[in-house]
Amino acid sequence: MTETSSAAPRIDTGRPHPARVYDWFLGGKDNYPVDEELGRQIMAMEPTARYGARHNRWFMQRATRMLAARRGVRQFLDIGTGIPTEPNLHRIAQAAAPETRVVYVDNDPIVLAHAQALLRGTPEGATHYVQADARDPRAVLEQARETLDFDRPVAVSLIALLHFIPDTDGAPELISTLVDALAPGSYLTLSQLASDHDPERTQRAVDMYAAGGVTLVPRSREETAAFFAGLELLEPGLVWLPEWHPELGVDEEHDGTAVPLYGAVARKV
Ligand code: SAH
Repeated sequence: MTETSSAAPRIDTGRPHPARVYDWFLGGKDNYPVDEELGRQIMAMEPTARYGARHNRWFMQRATRMLAARRGVRQFLDIGTGIPTEPNLHRIAQAAAPETRVVYVDNDPIVLAHAQALLRGTPEGATHYVQADARDPRAVLEQARETLDFDRPVAVSLIALLHFIPDTDGAPELISTLVDALAPGSYLTLSQLASDHDPERTQRAVDMYAAGGVTLVPRSREETAAFFAGLELLEPGLVWLPEWHPELGVDEEHDGTAVPLYGAVARKV
């Protein structure tokens, strides 16, 4: 990293940021006019974008319930956490088992600014926040090791993160470096914007983000499935988010609208 100053990184309100646009979709208040403007443009073209963002959040909740309550996972590493939105991952995992240890990672200064809300966990467990760039997975792991024991299972989640990381920026290496560091019995959860649901509309969204200076990388089913190479997918495999264990949902809304995001959870054997 080439940080030259030890001061907290500045929040750039002159251009949209993914975490803040997503916060706007979710109805949050931690966004700026530039973020709202891009959010509104996307909504004008794709009125279901907000529904998709909420379903992405619900998928995180269901996957966490599955891993904490049914699979006994007690350590979570959530990369690309986003601005806190209740319930956050640690709330769900620690409700299942208060001793659960959670490390959150994001590289956006606005998430750092709100990280306090991510740190109010159970006294028995641990919740930590790390400001780091997912494109440097070794640095992420090094800091995560201060809280998590990688000799025991860890559930790594990359939820709505990879569509901001092109392959040329190291998305495949990010996954392989993380998976290599995991003990058998660990898990990988991810969600990813699809390129093959409605290619034309998706391309327009890519163009809108690009105009705001943000690279958005939708991927096909095959490209997304490749991230799980060598891992054992839990049932029902890689599916549209609302189809992934809907029975684990709490207070969700389903009206049959398509959500163009793939999701899956897989186990390292
Ligand atoms: N995982 C959350 C938030 C998704 S929004 C959820 O699904 O609800 C995507 C998040 O990834 C944003 O908070 C953004 O700041 C973060 N992000 C994007 N690129 C990143 C990178 N290279 N390193 C770390 N975080 C990144």
